[in-house]
Amino acid sequence: MTNVLEVYGLTTTFTKNNKEFKVVDDLSLYVGKGESLGIVGESGCGKSVTSLSIMRLLGKNGKIEGSIQLNGTELLAFNEKVMQKIRGKEMAMIFQEPMTALNPVLTIGKQMSEGLEKHEGMKRAQAKQKSIELLTQVGISRANEIYNEYPHRLSGGMRQRVMIAMAIACSPKLLIADEPTTALDVTIQAQILDLIQKVRVELGMSLIMITHDLGVVAETCDRVMVMYAGQVIESADVRTLLRNPKHPYTIGLIHSTPHKAKGQKRLNSIAGSVPAPDEYPKGCRFAPRCDKAMPICAEQNPQLMAVDEQSQCRCWLYQELDKRSAVNV
Ligand code: SF4
Ligand code: MG
Repeated sequence: MTNVLEVYGLTTTFTKNNKEFKVVDDLSLYVGKGESLGIVGESGCGKSVTSLSIMRLLGKNGKIEGSIQLNGTELLAFNEKVMQKIRGKEMAMIFQEPMTALNPVLTIGKQMSEGLEKHEGMKRAQAKQKSIELLTQVGISRANEIYNEYPHRLSGGMRQRVMIAMAIACSPKLLIADEPTTALDVTIQAQILDLIQKVRVELGMSLIMITHDLGVVAETCDRVMVMYAGQVIESADVRTLLRNPKHPYTIGLIHSTPHKAKGQKRLNSIAGSVPAPDEYPKGCRFAPRCDKAMPICAEQNPQLMAVDEQSQCRCWLYQELDKRSAVNV
């Protein structure tokens, strides 16, 4: 499989009061052509900063190191002007709250047409026709009317459909969806997930789905990476991860995901909270919340390592057993 995106050693650092904090710490990932990768974790684990780093949409404060290659081209070598051409055309992003990305004072049509005129060099009439086609493609029935509406006149679900239409306007190779259904009602959530799947298949697009919800991953992703405190702590194909999770944090996440088929609404959440980047513990970053913690866990942060053919995991339970028993003695 050819990879659309390859990221190596991505480290994103923010500076606060003259101190540097790694919000994303040495993260590597790849997304194959047409493949869908889930990035999962509680809020504050670095999922959104990872996606904003890939899109190069961080403010001046965020420093990005490592390598981000889109179809073999190094994005970190480009200036903002070049990135503006790549965003939207080669890769696009949709957010939890579409209003943050939509301009409230411009009609839907104006915003869509502007993108097509800029990226695809279309004339106004052609851009309008294409916009209406796109709105229809994302399941908006009165596309002609919606074209002339302002964003605040639409429901959350409709706005997310518009965002998807705008994101796919130039047929990008990669779509990054950051919690695209979190702000929506449950029934609308399912429709939007179905829509993302539909356009992904239609356009042969690769997808990064960022979510705190393993149910969303189960429905939309081929592979999944779990993040905790700025690091990847487990990665596997979705089936393996859901059936045979390795890392205590992943196991906790699965136990705190309600099982729809069993009619469960709420389950135990993992006790404690994600440490802030300036409060990462010295050893395993999950140790203060982990019921399997051993003495070495407080001392050394484990590496992300292959556990078997399907999974990688960052946990002392699965590596260097001799070292662990030595510390325990
Ligand atoms: Fe728990 Fe130790 Fe594994 Fe961290 S390394 S998840 S503390 S067992
Ligand atoms: Mg987020």
